[in-house]
Amino acid sequence: MKALLIIDMLEDFIDKEGALTTGPSGEGIVDFIQEKIREFKGKDYPIIYICDNHEINDKEFEMFPTHCVRGTSGSKIIKALEPKEEDKIIRKRRYSSFFGTDLDLYLRENNINEIYLVGVCTNICVLYTAADARNLAYSVNVYKNGVASFDEDAHNFALKEMETTLGCNIMVNCKTKLDSARLN
Ligand code: ZN
Repeated sequence: MKALLIIDMLEDFIDKEGALTTGPSGEGIVDFIQEKIREFKGKDYPIIYICDNHEINDKEFEMFPTHCVRGTSGSKIIKALEPKEEDKIIRKRRYSSFFGTDLDLYLRENNINEIYLVGVCTNICVLYTAADARNLAYSVNVYKNGVASFDEDAHNFALKEMETTLGCNIMVNCKTKLDSARLN
C-alpha cells in the first residue's frame, strides 16, 4: 500500500509573513501538492499530514527562530491544503517525521510500505524523514516538483543525497497521467 506524506506545509513555513518562510519556493509547490492529493484520494491511498508542532521553549529554537509553536496560527496547515476528516495528522517536534511520533506504527498498521514525500524543507524535514524511512526499510519516493527549501543549494544537495546515499526514488517532471500509471 502507498501513502502520500505532506510535510510541514504550515503557515510559518509557507505564508509570506511566516516565522520561517520558504518564500516563493514553498508557495510554488502548493498546486502540485493539491494535484497529488486528488490523485492519491482517487485511488483511496491515505494522505498523511506531518506537522511541526513545538513547545514554547523547544530546544530547536536554539538553532532556528521560534516557529510552529503548538496552538498558534503559524502551526496550522495552510488553507489551500486543508485536511479532510479522513486524513491522518501527525505532529512532530524534530526534523524526522518518525522521531517521537506514531508514524511508523500507523504505516505498519495500515500495511503501507511505500511512501511518497512532498513538502518542506527538502534539506531538513524531508531529508531526515527520508533517512529514517529508509532505515526502517520503507520504499521512499520523492516528488522533485513537490519539495522546496529556502536554500536552493541545500535543496539540490538533499535530492542527490536522498537518491544516491539513501536509495530514494526521485520522481522528476511528474505529470499526473504518468504518475497515475505508476501508481496502478
Ligand atoms: Zn521545527
